[in-house]
Amino acid sequence: MTKVTILGCGATYGVPLVGGRWGLCDPTNPKNERTRPSVLIEQNGRSLMIDIGPDFRLQSVRAQVAPDTIMITHGHWDHIAGIGELPYYLEEVLKRDLDIYADKKCMSFIRSMFPYLFFDEEVKGTTSIVGYGDRKQYRILWHCIRAYEPFEANGIEMFPFLQNHGSLNSLGVRIADFVYSPDVKSFPERSWKYLADIGTWILDCDYWKPSDSHGDPETVLKHIYQFNPKQVYLTHMDEKMDYSVLKSWFEERGYTHVSPAYDGLEIDLCSD
Ligand SMILES: [Zn+2]
Ligand SMILES: [Zn+2]
Repeated sequence: MTKVTILGCGATYGVPLVGGRWGLCDPTNPKNERTRPSVLIEQNGRSLMIDIGPDFRLQSVRAQVAPDTIMITHGHWDHIAGIGELPYYLEEVLKRDLDIYADKKCMSFIRSMFPYLFFDEEVKGTTSIVGYGDRKQYRILWHCIRAYEPFEANGIEMFPFLQNHGSLNSLGVRIADFVYSPDVKSFPERSWKYLADIGTWILDCDYWKPSDSHGDPETVLKHIYQFNPKQVYLTHMDEKMDYSVLKSWFEERGYTHVSPAYDGLEIDLCSD
């Protein structure tokens, strides 16, 4: 049994924006209030969070979660800024070591932002990269991953693949027949096999208008036409993407299995 919780499904600046602007979103619909993109995966008593953005503190409070394993999809600040919370979190909340998985490029960017969380430490003859909590009791264990090389994180089988995200690639990830695809415009051909026979797909739909780096409704339809997933939830939505308007846009075209996600949405993946 696997459960996915949407901790956040907003675009880079969240909804409402700084200063309280709701754009085209109806402020009376709670489903329009969106923190930065992140999901929690729970499987057989283990859990794993994907991305740790600037709303990590708020998300951990709302969902009452304390993840000890995190995978990061790419080095944009809306997916990594919550790392600044970790020195306190490690010592006072988690009280054990924390594992973080990211690719080389993402890791070097995080290292440039948070150099005080990276040390080379000798462990049994090999050198690992670690960070410490405020009192140096617990460690962050940094693990370098690569697209197309499956890995196991906290007992969960992860299959990372590349996604075209403008000037920077992001990692999508497949777990059984669930796929998480934030921050993507298109998929390189090598990633297509990871998108076959999807049960539930969380997919980028940032804007109404096409862009070079993110999804939009027409682009989402192209992906659905190509890969034929059973269920799609949209994520990374900006302040112009009103929940009800976007949901109706897909329903009117016959895509009743496509729906915007919302913060706090829990999805049970029943196929496993
Ligand atoms: Zn993003
Ligand atoms: Zn991004």
